[in-house]
Amino acid sequence: MDWFWWVFIFFMAGGFAKVADTARTALRTRHERKMERLETARQERHELAAAQKPPEPVCGCTHHLAKHDKKGKCHELVQVPVAWDAHHEPVQYEAGQCTCQQYVGPQPLSQVYAEDLTDLA
Ligand SMILES: [Zn+2]
Ligand SMILES: [Zn+2]
Repeated sequence: MDWFWWVFIFFMAGGFAKVADTARTALRTRHERKMERLETARQERHELAAAQKPPEPVCGCTHHLAKHDKKGKCHELVQVPVAWDAHHEPVQYEAGQCTCQQYVGPQPLSQVYAEDLTDLA
């Protein structure tokens, strides 16, 4: 065979390898993009689910509103510090009642919360 053919075959092979490589890279990039899209969609679903959940009716004292009576007095038991060390760090606690009276002023948002939908198809 002529040397010319060897050179021709060499370049053809190199060319094919390059094309195959480019195709592989493109495929990989597309795959990565698809994975990114899937991940974004998953996050969006997650955020949507979190946004649709009604807010927890929790008082400013961190106790559930169910722990408060009609007057707003909190009945949850808490640890009340009764002794402090030289650094004003509590060293002894006693069982006591939460002193929360619940916020009685205007309630900007806390009362505005929708009931769960029951007819979720
Ligand atoms: Zn409270
Ligand atoms: Zn409380």
